[in-house]
Amino acid sequence: MHEMSIALAVVGQVEEAAARAGGVTAVNSVRLKVGELAGVVPDALSFCFELACAGTVLEGAELVTESVPGRAHCASCADDWAVGMPPQLCCPVCGEATAGLLSGRELRIADVHWEDGPARERTREPISEER
Ligand SMILES: [Zn+2]
Repeated sequence: MHEMSIALAVVGQVEEAAARAGGVTAVNSVRLKVGELAGVVPDALSFCFELACAGTVLEGAELVTESVPGRAHCASCADDWAVGMPPQLCCPVCGEATAGLLSGRELRIADVHWEDGPARERTREPISEER
């Protein structure tokens, strides 16, 4: 259900942005940056995303997830390392456990491709109503 709440939040944000932009008729794709420490299963997220899109302007949109590797920084010796999975949060050089995460927990929308324009909206009108 973790993925479902993320999917709903992403759909909500895109809907909001589309409403602000105005005239958006369809969303083609949404690109997400997902940190490897964010605890998200990409397959589960795509599945939930599809469900969350149903009945919205995002219906049929493709979800593209971009994995962001986790990196940590040691305050004591200024070493940077890839934390990997399972994450190694103690400094490999001095053993300090006070590492700060530089990246890997992000979960944000990188970009959205949508279609807009009044011309497209007109073609959606039923033919019987045109006269
Ligand atoms: Zn260190």
